[in-house]
Amino acid sequence: MSDETPICSAKGCRADAVWVLAWNNPKIHTPERRKTWLACEGHREHLSQFLGVRGFLKDVVLLKEWESAHGSA
Ligand SMILES: [Zn+2]
Repeated sequence: MSDETPICSAKGCRADAVWVLAWNNPKIHTPERRKTWLACEGHREHLSQFLGVRGFLKDVVLLKEWESAHGSA
């Protein structure tokens, strides 16, 4: 990670990230592990659905709240 402004994880999107989607694939990750995707306002629902239908989505939180809880790095 760098100190650049975080960018949305959606393919081809260059918008600033606003949301953090925390997810876990139980087939490859231990239960407490969290992978994160970043999403802009416009892609939050799309990415949430992508993870949600697979049963991977654990949490959706504002990036600024995630950073205050987990550190910005
Ligand atoms: Zn986006």
